[in-house]
Amino acid sequence: MSERRKLSVLGATGSIGTQALDVVRKYPDAFEIVALTARSSAEKLFGLVREFKPKLAVLEKEPEVIPQDVRFCEWAFGADGLVKAACMDGVQDVLAAVVGIAGLPAALGALDHCERLLLANKEALVTGGALVMEKARRLKKKILPVDSEHSAIFQCLQAAGNNPVSRILLTASGGPFRTWSAGDIERATKAQALGHPTWRMGPKITVDCATMMNKGLEVIEAYWLFGLELDRIEVTVHPQSVVHSMIEFEDGAVLAQMGKPDMRGPISYALGFPGRLPYGGERLSFKERLELSFEAPDTRKFPCLAYAYQAQRQGGGYPVALNGANEAAVEAFLRERIPFGAIARVNGQVLEQYPGTPVRGVEDVYAVDQWARHAAREILDK
Ligand code: NAD
Ligand code: MG
Repeated sequence: MSERRKLSVLGATGSIGTQALDVVRKYPDAFEIVALTARSSAEKLFGLVREFKPKLAVLEKEPEVIPQDVRFCEWAFGADGLVKAACMDGVQDVLAAVVGIAGLPAALGALDHCERLLLANKEALVTGGALVMEKARRLKKKILPVDSEHSAIFQCLQAAGNNPVSRILLTASGGPFRTWSAGDIERATKAQALGHPTWRMGPKITVDCATMMNKGLEVIEAYWLFGLELDRIEVTVHPQSVVHSMIEFEDGAVLAQMGKPDMRGPISYALGFPGRLPYGGERLSFKERLELSFEAPDTRKFPCLAYAYQAQRQGGGYPVALNGANEAAVEAFLRERIPFGAIARVNGQVLEQYPGTPVRGVEDVYAVDQWARHAAREILDK
């Protein structure tokens, strides 16, 4: 890459954002950071602004003081600020790494302005998949997946040529409660839910991994990204997290993408695509004993995975309702207001209560989201 690519990082202080900036640090001649956003970690953002010198920096709320030495750039606040960071003049790549449906307006905005949307924010596709994909197609913009499973599938697809894919095999670690009894899962604490066996991530997605809602969201994400029917997207539990996902062809041949569980892999693949940027991560060793095991997920213990298939099959606002309920329930769990088992129950109940209102545009999506959060809180307050 001769000229530096102009990159906006939405959610720069988070797990994905921080690791992306680690990769960018290694390639100072490849990227110019034009915008950085964070929700509330002002001090951390000030540090990143000093280092990367963006044109725009965004926080959710205006802080009491903005230090003199970071006032060289423009500052913006709130949801509009986030969209502004996605829509910078001349921006080429937008890394969408905020959490939840809050990232949907920015993802949609980015598609009007950037060349490539580097998408970690899976909830944007779960809630606005039809809108995001339609817009990307219409404007001929690339969406590069950052989620490790989707990056793996995307990498396998580079080798597929024109051969049709008969199945996508999404791998799941199974989370910290894979081997636990249903009763123990019900009473799991916040500390236990946050102790993921193979990946270090932000709190919301870590809880989603423990309920396996994350894998459900990823099934929907794969549906939108790769255009396969839902029946052809299968989840397999693979506790070692070495095979990041697989595709199967019509003749039964299976391609897998493997590596150490390190998000800098899929992040740097998206940043460098179609090239590859070595990021200095540990490599897989095939000299020591390497065991890879696969088993079917247990949807009785982890019903959220089944809810996701159900919601996507029903279509329209159902995935939005499920996602909204889940965002509200996970937030309540992280505040230690509800037991772990309540997350799945609330998700199931809200899905059942959702009357299936028509969803035509983005305003309808936000209305379903608000309805679902409200319905979830009503159930949780009882
Ligand atoms: P995180 O909580 O570590 O970081 C989120 C970032 O977004 C932070 O900078 C935070 O300040 C900002 N943010 C959060 N909520 C916001 C809001 N409402 N408005 C504006 N900014 C907000 O989260 P993460 O683990 O980095 O995950 C980011 C996204 O990437 C999620 O959608 C997650 O599902 C997805 N993802 C993460 C990983 C991972 O390894 N962490 C892997 C795959 C996919
Ligand atoms: Mg993933």
